[in-house]
This record gives sequence, structure tokens and C-alpha cells, in this order.
Amino acid sequence: MPIHEKSLIRPENLLEHENLVVDGVDVSGHWSTFIQDRVVTDYNEDMEEEISALAGGENIHRCWQCGSCTNACTVHALNPDFNPRYWIYLIRQGMESELLRDKDIIWQCVSCHKCTHVCPRDVVPEGVMKATAHWLELKGHTEKSHSMIFDEIFSEQVFETGKIEDGRVVKSFMKRTGQALLQDWMVEMVKGMLRHMPISLLTKMGMAALVHPRTRNWGPAREAIREYVDEQKQREKAALGLNELVAQAAAEARSAAAKQETTHV
Ligand code: SF4
Ligand code: SF4
Repeated sequence: MPIHEKSLIRPENLLEHENLVVDGVDVSGHWSTFIQDRVVTDYNEDMEEEISALAGGENIHRCWQCGSCTNACTVHALNPDFNPRYWIYLIRQGMESELLRDKDIIWQCVSCHKCTHVCPRDVVPEGVMKATAHWLELKGHTEKSHSMIFDEIFSEQVFETGKIEDGRVVKSFMKRTGQALLQDWMVEMVKGMLRHMPISLLTKMGMAALVHPRTRNWGPAREAIREYVDEQKQREKAALGLNELVAQAAAEARSAAAKQETTHV
């Protein structure tokens, strides 16, 4: 399917002749603009399967490229390069290197789900964006994004205690992302809370931050959740071929160590 958006034509693919006369007609400068052909040689034929193996990416195969998601997208309205429809197209075509050109903006999805509501095919583009950001991270193309770190901290606390305590989540998030806890916006937020929230609730929140309350008899549930999450992580890695890569790296390390020992003997 051809890509029509003008914004997707890369400046480096445009060619102009400073001085060109064709059949006596001067077509110098932009009159002689050509768009260079792009030859893609590094297809990843498994890309669609890899993304659909990750949470949120399951329905990517349903997309029929209507563009409603991009039209409705909150981030696209601010940055035309943020284009869920186009990225779904690239993934389904296996054009990995082309997708990687946008790897530093895919994480910017704000999970507003406007795309999900307008999609006529139930693709759940928000989920696909999350799965794609996760895929980029698992494959080592990007660092872990702040939203991924936040999700991890949130989940860890629920798994551990069966409860969620906002103050501790924010504190851990700021620490793990190397940010100072005392931010201007946070001071304003706390002032607002002190002004408007009942004392009993504030006391409860303060106590929760200190004593880390747990759901009663949470132990068995915690073990079951952890087991399930580990299984899912293994399944995702297997779908991306990462288990084989880890096994291969371990085998290479073992063989290198054995060689070194033989040399010393
Ligand atoms: S959920 Fe993400 S992709 Fe969907 S409309 Fe919102 S910002 Fe755009
Ligand atoms: S709205 Fe749905 S079907 Fe249309 S391009 Fe987006 S994901 Fe594909």
C-alpha cells in the first residue's frame, strides 16, 4: 500500500538539480525535484508476530489502514511525525529499519485511547503503541522509558502488598528515574491536598507511607501472580527469539572460558 503523507518523505531522499535544461526548458532548482527510490533490504518477516505476542499488540493484524487512529490522536495533533497508522503499516510489512527511525518518539503515546474509540476494526492502537514501545526496549533499541518504569513500580507494589499507595509509587519513581523529589509542581499539589482533603484521609495516607500496609493473607496470591508474570515474560522473550540469544551468548561465553583454560594448561 503506498504511503501518501508528504511529511513521510525524508529530506535526504529529495534530489534537485541546480542547473538543468530539458528539451530547451530550464527546470533548475525545485522544478526538477525528484524523490529517490528507497530500496529496503532488511525485512524482519517476524515483526508482526513479535509485536502481536506482546500485551496490547494482539489485534494488529486487523488494521485496514483507514487512518482514523492518527486523525484522532492527541499526540499527532502536536507532532505530525507521531503516526500510529504508519507504524502499524511498517510493522505489518516487516520494515524494521524504517520503524527504528521513529524509535525515539513512539513512547510518547499518552494512553488517552482516542484512537481505540475511533478504530473501526478493534485494533486497539493504544495497545499496539505500548507493545511497540515494549518491543523496542526488549530488543535493546531504546532505553526503558519513564512510563515503563512507572508501570513496573506500580505493579511491583501491588504484587508485593496487594495494595497501592500513591506517595510511595511517586517517591520510588522519582528515585529510579534520578529526579529530585521536591519539584515545584509537587509542592503545589501537596499544598492543594492539604487545603482540600479531609484530615482523616491525609492521616491515613501519611500512615500508609510509613507502615506499608498489606492485604491480609496476601502471600499465596503474591506467589501465584509472580509465577504468572514470570511465565509471561518467558513467553514474550521466546516470541522475540531472545531466549535463544541469551542461550547462544552463554554458550559462547562458556566456549571462550574453556579455550582460555586450555591455553593456561
Ligand atoms: S492512545 Fe496514544 S496513539 Fe492513541 S490517540 Fe492517544 S496518544 Fe494517540
Ligand atoms: S483506526 Fe484502526 S483500522 Fe484504522 S488505521 Fe488505525 S488501527 Fe488501522
